[in-house]
Amino acid sequence: MKKNIYKILSFSIVTFSTNSFCTFESIRSESTECHTWSGNTFKPATIFYPNSIEDVQEIIRNAIKTDKKIRFFGSRHSLNDLIATNGYAVNTDSFNKILEINQKMGTVRVECGIKLKQLFKELAKNNLALLNQGFIKEQSIAGALATGTHGSGKTGTLSDFIVSVELLDGLGKYHVISADSNPQWLQAARLHLGTLGFVYAVTLQCVPLFVLSHARKAHTWHDIFENLEQYYLKNDYFMLMAHPISDNVLAFTWNVSQEKPTNNFFINLTQKLLMNEITNYLGIKFIHWQPGLTNDFIDHFFKAMEQTEYREYSYKTLSPIKDPLEETDYIEEEIAIPMQYFRSAIEDIVALYNKYKKHNFELVGFMTCRFVKGSRKALLSPAYDQDSVYISLVTLSIFDQYQQFYAEFEKLMSKYQHARPHWGKFNQLTQTTVAALYQNNLTQFNAIRAILDPYKLFTNNYVEQRLG
Ligand SMILES: Cc1cc2nc3c(=O)[nH]c(=O)nc-3n(C[C@H](O)[C@H](O)[C@H](O)COP(=O)(O)OP(=O)(O)OC[C@H]3O[C@@H](n4cnc5c(N)ncnc54)[C@H](O)[C@@H]3O)c2cc1C
Repeated sequence: MKKNIYKILSFSIVTFSTNSFCTFESIRSESTECHTWSGNTFKPATIFYPNSIEDVQEIIRNAIKTDKKIRFFGSRHSLNDLIATNGYAVNTDSFNKILEINQKMGTVRVECGIKLKQLFKELAKNNLALLNQGFIKEQSIAGALATGTHGSGKTGTLSDFIVSVELLDGLGKYHVISADSNPQWLQAARLHLGTLGFVYAVTLQCVPLFVLSHARKAHTWHDIFENLEQYYLKNDYFMLMAHPISDNVLAFTWNVSQEKPTNNFFINLTQKLLMNEITNYLGIKFIHWQPGLTNDFIDHFFKAMEQTEYREYSYKTLSPIKDPLEETDYIEEEIAIPMQYFRSAIEDIVALYNKYKKHNFELVGFMTCRFVKGSRKALLSPAYDQDSVYISLVTLSIFDQYQQFYAEFEKLMSKYQHARPHWGKFNQLTQTTVAALYQNNLTQFNAIRAILDPYKLFTNNYVEQRLG
């Protein structure tokens, strides 16, 4: 009943406030409920489905008139309230085209809402690929860039591959931001949490399509700690999967190969069985049924996951998980720690886990350790100016203590200078902690933000609590 009244009220507000805009009628939705991939719900006043830059300009003009805030959203995969709003929520799915491929420069210009999986396929058809990518490819390109999405290896985050950003600011004015036109703005526009305006399109630097030889092998923590530098330097791409309960670690390696992908039926079948949505679903159900993982289970699982070298195109093997199902209780926090503190950080995490485990708290998924080369390209990048290892911890909201656990995780890691949480995952950052972690970068970012968004249209509670 309450829901219906809300719908009627919101419908009349929209009709009243937008009756002078003919396009508004066709691009707004009657539905007023949104939820993220991990089940956070919110109720925007209106959800818009624009099809053109002009549509978005009208949304911006109308938001100024009616004093509404705007949040754009892509695939809704951020594991927090980044996209939540009680103002205008704007879906970017229609902006899904490749605008230009420049073979000479090796660049691609794409609209913001294209999903990574579609982008990667189109690039491959043109013999191109991104140098690196995250573990899944469901995200929209603009969403992935806005939060500093990363993979693992000796490269930066996806935001580092940006050549230029085409943006509508808070007055609806169109800008092309590049290193030539405005290098300071580009440093902000590479990773912006949706706070600078509407990213209409981006141009990305690509590399020629390449094949990687991939293997997975179980190691002990002792071996990893002793030989980390060697493993990291020796392999083109390297990451670790572990659980604090076990002494075993699964190492993933990928190395560039000049040979063709292996076309082995059994390997392909094993990959499909391990990484598909049914296994994913069964895994989640198992975790709900039996949240406490045992040492034996992990050791057997890692043995089963071992894989001898096989070759595959980079865009397929670097993002092996296909179509992960939406999971409402899923919580994940990931912190980028300067690489030199890796061993000490892992020891801290094991001690923290053991303390909470006594109180029936469990980390359900695997802890991943992924390596990112530091750069000074994006002001708000967690890996700004420091080679980092991103450590992620996964739990479920069924464990009451999860907020307290993650608060302690953040506090523990804060002793390593500039250990910065991923913006697109759960975190309890505040203005004070963000100011300490980003210092002058935050001041510079907010100064650019004040120029591009003078009415502070592109904000919400998540942003206010962290950036002001
Ligand atoms: C299962 C899963 C696996 C993941 N794996 C990885 C991983 O391997 N590596 C990693 O780093 N992260 C990973 N993430 C996090 C994810 O990559 C980021 O949260 C990313 O932002 C999600 O992209 P999206 O399209 O869903 O963006 P959304 O969540 O929809 O939006 C993210 C931000 O982008 C802004 N935005 C989106 N489009 C626009 C636009 N056109 N203009 C302006 N602002 C815009 C939004 O306002 C918001 O602030 C994972 C998340 C999940 C759920």
